[in-house]
Amino acid sequence: MSSSRGSSSGRGRRSSVCSFCGKSHRDAGPMVEGASDVYICASCIELCHNLIREERRRAGKTRSSLKSIPKPREIYDFLNQYVIGQELAKRAISVAVHTHYKRLAHADAADEDDVEIDKSNVLLLGPTGCGKTLLARTLARVLNVPFAIGDATTLTEAGYVGEDVENILLRLLQNADYDLEAAQRGIIYIDEIDKIGKTWNNISITRDVSGEGVQQALLKMLEGTISNIPPQGGRKHPEQQYIQLDTTNILFICGGTFVGLDKIVSKRLGHKKIGFTSEGPDFDEKRDLGRLLEEVTPDDLIEFGIIPEFVGRLPVVCPLAPLDVPALIEIMTEPKNAIVRQYQKLFELEKAKLAFSPEALEEIATRAIERDTGARALRAVTEEFMLEHMFELPELKSGTTYTVTPEVVRSEADLLAPGRLRKESA
Ligand code: ADP
Repeated sequence: MSSSRGSSSGRGRRSSVCSFCGKSHRDAGPMVEGASDVYICASCIELCHNLIREERRRAGKTRSSLKSIPKPREIYDFLNQYVIGQELAKRAISVAVHTHYKRLAHADAADEDDVEIDKSNVLLLGPTGCGKTLLARTLARVLNVPFAIGDATTLTEAGYVGEDVENILLRLLQNADYDLEAAQRGIIYIDEIDKIGKTWNNISITRDVSGEGVQQALLKMLEGTISNIPPQGGRKHPEQQYIQLDTTNILFICGGTFVGLDKIVSKRLGHKKIGFTSEGPDFDEKRDLGRLLEEVTPDDLIEFGIIPEFVGRLPVVCPLAPLDVPALIEIMTEPKNAIVRQYQKLFELEKAKLAFSPEALEEIATRAIERDTGARALRAVTEEFMLEHMFELPELKSGTTYTVTPEVVRSEADLLAPGRLRKESA
């Protein structure tokens, strides 16, 4: 490393220069001074710290995370604790992930002429709020690998205003605590992948004009490339130093709502089905959507506007079904962090008890479905009617049990004083 010690930097003088990066005190801020006029700035200290940490890790527990690869059933059982329904997706993901890590272990041990197993990146199709991100997030937990979420709509081709594709990799690296080895085996979830279809009409002038450039950049990442990541994020510029990250072994999970894809599938199936089915177009629209997505073929995705190479890199396609009332009720009550459990805990902390009548749960679920944002609406609906009660709760006497009824959900009755009519209906 070249030493650029400041010639004029006498002891205690403010004109010192960092002996590592050569920046002056004015640019680099306060520095630590060593013996014989040696200085180091804050960012070099951090860089050295990271380097040493990584070196220690490499020497210590290299690849220990891969020693035990969970079986598909173990992954499935774990996903089951958090994700309600979506059986097909849970099973497909469990197998894909198991295969992925098997593949890595195999690649480490294989000879050159051995069979190469392809990467099985996953594409999740389904309406908003049905558990796509949740699946990916839960997966990262069970595997204990770094995980990052990116949004395809914010990505733009280099040169346009917006985020470079590499920033997703940077996020992964940051989440891995700058452990390059771990990041290179992590999972990346890219949301709204359908919005980069080339037929998608961009409204914003700051967006990539065709979407195809972004697909190409993402494609490279999916295929496996050595990506240059700017350590501080943001736009690349020529004088910057880069961290090189190999994406070959990163598992990519892409998700999207693919609005209109069902029409493409139905058109294709419809042409074939003429004269053979009597089902007609008038069965339940939402269930229909779920069923149609199960029939998606790569050609449908290409017609939707995803470039063929990209489709080819996402061999596992999992449709997720829209959530119905029973599924939403289960989501409210069953998972470890279910919203009902959270509210019950909050009441418990105030030394009170909270119960929800089955009808009340049904009312919440029905209201949530009306909002068309899937399970995401559950929290919003619940928070709306609970707000006022949460405001008053700490002032009431402890030890009481309160029950949420459909009237409470509709804000027609008071949860904390059932006899009392609400102000607006009084
Ligand atoms: P999206 O499909 O749009 O990515 P998310 O996975 O972000 O939706 O879901 C939003 C929230 O809704 C999650 O954080 C979770 O609390 C809840 N949720 C959605 N689907 C499910 C599901 N199948 N099981 C349990 N919770 C769910």
